[in-house]
Amino acid sequence: MVGLVGFRGLIHAASVEVTVSSDVSASPCVAQAAIRTEVLIIGAGPCGLFQVFELGLLGIGAHIVDSLARPGGQCTELYPEKPIYDIPALPVCGAQELVERLLEQIKPFKAQMHLGQEVTAFAAREDGRFDVQTVTGTRFDAGAVVLAAGVGSFQPRRIGLEGAEAFEGSAIHYRVKDSASLHGQQLVVFGGGDSALDWTLELAPKARSLTLVHRRHEFRAAPASVARMRDLVSAGRMRCFEALPESLIVADGELRGVNIKLLDGTSPAVHALEAQKLLVFFGLHPKLGPIAEWGLELERKALKVDTEKFQTSLPGVFAVGDINTYPGKKKLILSGFHEAALAAFAIQHHLYPQKKQFLQYTTTSPIMHQRLGVPD
Ligand code: FAD
Repeated sequence: MVGLVGFRGLIHAASVEVTVSSDVSASPCVAQAAIRTEVLIIGAGPCGLFQVFELGLLGIGAHIVDSLARPGGQCTELYPEKPIYDIPALPVCGAQELVERLLEQIKPFKAQMHLGQEVTAFAAREDGRFDVQTVTGTRFDAGAVVLAAGVGSFQPRRIGLEGAEAFEGSAIHYRVKDSASLHGQQLVVFGGGDSALDWTLELAPKARSLTLVHRRHEFRAAPASVARMRDLVSAGRMRCFEALPESLIVADGELRGVNIKLLDGTSPAVHALEAQKLLVFFGLHPKLGPIAEWGLELERKALKVDTEKFQTSLPGVFAVGDINTYPGKKKLILSGFHEAALAAFAIQHHLYPQKKQFLQYTTTSPIMHQRLGVPD
């Protein structure tokens, strides 16, 4: 075995074909037989899901693993209710809707998902296959690996105020899962990026009160959003402060507000804001996690790939979506879809080098119709 990273004393059990497994309950102490698969996809974001589809069209099976409890990556975790406008042929599509459409599209290929488990160990074997293991002990013996791990196991930057952890998920939110629950509430939004501004604009008309707090006068968000926010402030529909969070205001175990430290020279410098909910959008830790330690060539925390195969520095290991980098890379969903299509052909060649490759159209290919379950 070469390139052994993170396996620490793993016992090598015989590989067996497995179709069903209960992943989340798996104990890290039990040595399980490895699941043998043509391809293992790490990451069930939009690009990982579409990778299943592109492989499936070529008749290649895959298992897919994600550390989150649900598929969908950033779309599901960070902006499920936001409309996306740049998915080809879908003038507007909600982020969660996109994930659901992808799940529907990959149904015919029956890829097994292993959710709620982070991949922590990876090793290239001398026979060209790969041993991969998750934190819960699920093991894979894969012919090729696709890293579709986005920004890695991402974590929102916390507000960092004393006692804040106790209110996480109830009165302090780092993402909005159910915007309706915020209607009619006193809200304070922290941040100056697109998430902070988008939610400000979305919620200002529906909240009882909304205050935006940002540490600088300039915002990182789209200028049009900033202009709309300033219009709302001028119209008295919301307030905006240049300030930092200072401390929570808590009474009888409930969040009643937040003290902010004004940075615009106003005296007194600390100002109390009444609030039932704080929405904090300080961005994500771009934490590649264990993937950064697998010896693959990195550039600015992304995996270097070529633009023909989307293969990393290790043959047989491919990377698609936000996790990869190459000249001209743009972190867009449609770029990841293109990468997945080309990676699928490269994976087919990697697994079956003798096989002649033909470009077939889904409109006319009988074998693709069969794989998709399209009736004749
Ligand atoms: P991700 O969506 O990040 O998914 C990666 C998955 O890998 C995650 O689920 C993660 O849990 C998992 N993972 C990571 N490490 C491991 C591990 N070790 N083990 C197991 N699982 C792991 N793009 C557009 O094209 N159009 C838009 O309009 C648009 N709007 C956006 C709005 C916002 C607010 C944000 C934050 C992003 C937006 N994007 C948009 C960007 C788009 O969401 C990303 O480009 C896209 O999600 C990348 O998909 P992915 O599959 O590569 O990675």
